[in-house]
Amino acid sequence: MGVMLTLLAACMVPSAKQNNSAQTITYTPMKTNVRPAPRFKLEKPSILDETESENTQSQQPAPANSPDKTVRVLILENSKSAYIKHSGRVNIYTQDKSKKYKISQAGTVSVKSAKNGQVQVGTLVAKQPIFIEPVGGVTLTMDKNGYTGIFKVVPGTNTFNIIELTPLENYLYGVLPHEMHHTWALEALKAQAVAARTYTLKSIENKSEEPFDLYNDVRSQVYKGSAQVYDSIKKAVDGTRGQVLSYKGELFYTYYHGNCGGGTDHVEIWNEKAPHIKPLSGASCKFDNHSKSYTFSQDITKSSAERFARSQGLKGTLSSVRVAKKTSTGRANTLTLKTSNGSKQVRCADFRAATGIRSCKITKMTTGTTKIHVEGRGYGHGIGMCQDGAHGMAKQNYTYKQILKQYYPGSTLAVVR
Ligand SMILES: [Zn+2]
Repeated sequence: MGVMLTLLAACMVPSAKQNNSAQTITYTPMKTNVRPAPRFKLEKPSILDETESENTQSQQPAPANSPDKTVRVLILENSKSAYIKHSGRVNIYTQDKSKKYKISQAGTVSVKSAKNGQVQVGTLVAKQPIFIEPVGGVTLTMDKNGYTGIFKVVPGTNTFNIIELTPLENYLYGVLPHEMHHTWALEALKAQAVAARTYTLKSIENKSEEPFDLYNDVRSQVYKGSAQVYDSIKKAVDGTRGQVLSYKGELFYTYYHGNCGGGTDHVEIWNEKAPHIKPLSGASCKFDNHSKSYTFSQDITKSSAERFARSQGLKGTLSSVRVAKKTSTGRANTLTLKTSNGSKQVRCADFRAATGIRSCKITKMTTGTTKIHVEGRGYGHGIGMCQDGAHGMAKQNYTYKQILKQYYPGSTLAVVR
């Protein structure tokens, strides 16, 4: 079979969320510092046959009324002081631009929290956010990570946060090498680029009333700035420029993980609140067993499991942890925790988050006196794209579109404007 994703014939973006209970948006009162909720327009890609050239530059520029695709990433949280190196000129100004100055030469700007909920950036002190804007390709470096976007320093009570404002495609340059190794086959990197781009734009849609769109760690996607870009990563991002996955005309959270251990699962076993849609309902995978993550054998401390048991309302000494219910792929849906005082069924996803077991695809579990021994398959939550599987497919000459179709069944490739 040749391929491919069915193209969107005409993509309508609903003006309001569809009546899907899991997708209902709760409207909170508008705060200051927010931007209007964007709804990205999705269109049929202009180049989508399998003999495509890498010429993505021919795509039309975004129309003037296109929603802002600047990504707001939290890169420093609850800090009291930081030093930011700049490789050349920077403009520093308060949000209302009532105070501003520039530094023409390379140097270091210190940032620290000041009294009465203020923050000091260089010589500026303010209770409102202060921006550090690099000019003409200047890089800002913080904690050895180089950034190309604008820093927004947001004062808190005794601390401050720094949010980087950076164009979507630049942000992806900084995400990809932390989510996949840059030496992996290009088609796998391209699949990852589309998945990460879709996840990012979905976050921008959903977080417009929040002070930022994404964390810079596993709570969203790992990101350490985009000043240094690998050629392969640039090729993957540029070669899929603007391309996203959609389902029923809307973006969705394109979750992904390290290794599914032979099959992915329905999103409900990991995140009940996520929309129960076909692209996140599970897929077979026979491309990931080349990876050392395909199987695992690990010991976790019994005390971490006991702490989790207490958080679930169980008292007494933990005597055993056992798989209670499995999905058809063999992933534990629920576990039974047994203590000297009783027992309880808990979600394996919650147990994994609390104890750090590599995956819930458990094949053996024994409770000792101080440790719990766990054996199984895979690494990660097992929802959406299996990264090792994507790599395996790419090595067997599948295209990124085939990879995406495999792991997000029923989804459609589209271009965001
Ligand atoms: Zn897999």
